[in-house]
Formats: sequence, C-alpha cells, structure tokens
Amino acid sequence: SVVSRFAPSPTGYLHVGGARTALYAWLVARAAGGKFVLRIEDTDRERSTQAAIDAIFAGMKWLGLDWDEEPVYQTQRFDRYGVFINQLLEENKAYKCYCSAERLDAMREAQMAAGEKARYDGTCRDLTPEQREEKEGQPFVIRFRNPQEGTVVFDDHVRGRIEIANSELDDLIIARTDGTPTYNFCVVIDDWDMGITHVVRGEDHINNTPRQINILRALNAPLPEYAHVAMILGDDGKKLSKRHGAVSVTEYRDNGYLPEAVLNYLVRLGWSHGDQEVFSREEMIQLFKLSDINKAASAFNTEKLNWLNQHYMKTLPGEQVAAELGWHFEQLGVATEDGPALVDVVKLQAERVKTLKEMAEISRYFYTPVTEFDAAAAKKHLRPVAKEVLLDIQQRLATISDWSAESIQQAIQATCEALAVGMGKVGMPLRVAVTGGGNSPALDATLALIPQETVVARIGLALD
Ligand code: GLU
Repeated sequence: SVVSRFAPSPTGYLHVGGARTALYAWLVARAAGGKFVLRIEDTDRERSTQAAIDAIFAGMKWLGLDWDEEPVYQTQRFDRYGVFINQLLEENKAYKCYCSAERLDAMREAQMAAGEKARYDGTCRDLTPEQREEKEGQPFVIRFRNPQEGTVVFDDHVRGRIEIANSELDDLIIARTDGTPTYNFCVVIDDWDMGITHVVRGEDHINNTPRQINILRALNAPLPEYAHVAMILGDDGKKLSKRHGAVSVTEYRDNGYLPEAVLNYLVRLGWSHGDQEVFSREEMIQLFKLSDINKAASAFNTEKLNWLNQHYMKTLPGEQVAAELGWHFEQLGVATEDGPALVDVVKLQAERVKTLKEMAEISRYFYTPVTEFDAAAAKKHLRPVAKEVLLDIQQRLATISDWSAESIQQAIQATCEALAVGMGKVGMPLRVAVTGGGNSPALDATLALIPQETVVARIGLALD
C-alpha cells in the first residue's frame, strides 16, 4: 500500500514551498488510505537545530498535516547506513577511493578548463588487489560503482519520462573519510527502510534521482514512484524568498491567515482541478492527482490568498475561526474570557477584514476599556459637538430593560426623533464613544455584544 513521506532538512522555518510539498505527499497517502511519514534530514549538524525541528512540527500541525508513526531522524541511523555501505563494498558495488583532495581539485580544474563537466575520473575504480593493498592505511572515501553503460529511465508523475545516460553520472561518494554516509546514500536507505512507495519532492532534487535509482538497484531494493514539484515564484517571477514577504508557515499564522485558507491556497499553487478554486480538505483528498500537478513554476498571489482567507472566515464553522481568533488576541495580550463570545465577534467582523490579525486588532474594544479616541473621529463626532446627543442616548440606553440589538436600535431612533437629527448625528458620536473610533460594524449589533453598564459608562467618559 501507498507510503509517502516528507523529508525536511531542519535548517530553518517550514517555508511555504516545503509545506506545499508536504501537502502533496500527504494527499497522495490520504487519497490512497496509505501512510504519510516524516523524516528529519538532520545530518548537516552545523545547520540543523531543534528550533527548526519544532517549527516544522508546529507548522505541520497547524496546517493539519498529520503524520503516521514516530518521525525518523537520520542522525540516529548511522549504524544502519554503515551496514549497507559494507554490503556494497563486499559485493564490489562500491570501492575505496584514495584520491587526495589536491588531486581531485587539479582534476576538476583541468576538466573545467577543457570545457568539460567536472566528474570523478575513476582512478580508484579499477585498482588491482595489489594496488589496493599498497594503499592500505591511507585515508579513503567510499564511492558507489555507478554503471557505465545504459540509461536510467523513470516516469516522473509531474515531469514525464526522464532518461539519463549512465555515462553522465560519475561514481558518487557514499561515505566520507571519517566514515559518515553522504546525503544521497542516506535518502536511499531511508526510503527503502521506510517502505516509501511515492517520493514527492522539490524539483531541485531531480538530478539526485538517477543516482538514487542506481543505488537502489544495486541493493535490489524496489523503486518508488517519483514526483518532482516545480518551484514557487514571487509575484515578480523570481524565486520566492524573504524579499517577497512572509515565506514561513508560522508567519502566515502570525499574519492572520486560517490554516484552511493557507492549505487551499497551497494546493492550488501548482495543481488544479478544472477551474475550481475552493477545496475543503476532504475534496482535496478526493480530487488530488499527482499527474495534475503543473510542470511550470507557479507564482505567489497574495490577493488570492486574502480572498480565500475571507471566504473561510465567513464560511467555516464559527468555533473553528473563533479558536484561531482567540490565539490572535492572546498574541495581543488581550484576555477574552470576560466579554462576548469570540464566535459572535467573528460573525460581526468577518466581512470587514481580510485577516484574523486585523480582526483582533479592530475588535479590542469588546474586551478592553476604551482609553483613547481616534483623534480625527473624536474631533469630528464627539466633542464638543455631540454633548446633547450623547446625554440623550445615554439616558435611553441606561433604561433599556432587555439589552438587545433591537432595543438599542429603538433607543437610537428615539434620540433622533427627540432631537430632530439624522441617524448619523447620533450613530457616529455613539460609535466613537463606545468603540474609540469611527469604524465598527452595525452599531446595534456591536453594542449588543458589550454589557449595558459598560456602554453607558463609556458614553460618560466620552462626555468628560
Ligand atoms: N531534505 C530535502 C530537502 O529538504 C528533501 C529530500 C527528499 O525529499 O528526498 O530539500
């Protein structure tokens, strides 16, 4: 059965490109009722950090990309890699190479100068047993004995048929002088041990694939299927980077996006199903096909992400959006226990903002006292112009016996009639007094979410 994997190198945050690769791999597994596993490629000890590992887990969890089984760490598997390096040596499918760094450098320089591709010239490939004995004790690396004839052919789910002549490939180092295995070798052993049937990864790894296939064959291991996914570009057509704004998944959370929106956005970034734009998680699982992934690089489009985010703010079950909004209030240091239910705030504000970060920022007045007024709004609507209006509406609001949007609306109307002024002349001062600014959703619904005493007291403060 299908087993796919995500194999990040924990050298930084989980960036959107990685998250999209993870999503595609996850979909392959979930669509087939198979397994999705995680492998932490932490052999670069200098650059791998626990913080990065945590960030990857956090990003995956936030997106709801759940994995089966405990994650595998490459640094815990060196013994295992050693077993197969020895096996290949014994079977003469790998050999010790004693060439010095200086010799290899000189070789490469000469090749480049001649306009050739730099590649190992095979000096140690065919040493006689006597020659090998002579070199005993000298430092060596271990090279894989790559076939010299024939071609490696594989059918990539995204890129189609790929053929590479073995004459293009040189003998890859699989163990360094200190005995540690190299990257491509670890990947091969891991994919095999983990029973991976589908390798979904970035296109930047496509040149590794023929080498990995040759090693798998030498080990008599089954070959997985491959899908190499194209890059993500910024809106200027250049490779997506920090320069374009947020690139890490957690930054998208910080900036107020819902995981459903990010996921939906990412799935469409390089994959399509007709012209459908909105996909629930279940629909993605149902409809996703590796062969529908776009060959060309896709460009990031913040507008589209914003649109999806607003769509999900409006249409997801309120509790789901509310939970995420609660997180944003926490980030702002605003306690939301004493105040309206977050679901009600979501209902009121979803139309008005693109992100939950904005929603939290403009909704503080539901949970914290209004200590300052927006200067321009106060000047225009509050003091001294609205004294009479505010006194009148304060009176009426204070005596309402059933605090509701309806009764609030009636009170506002009554003030308009009593003072013979229009709606705006009452509504605006009241809005500024209670919310601190001139922008809020419908006044009756907004006020109804704030306790009656609080509203009356805030009007009093605005009158001072
Ligand atoms: N660790 C590699 C990366 O983060 C992925 C390798 C693979 O998927 O085979 O780019």
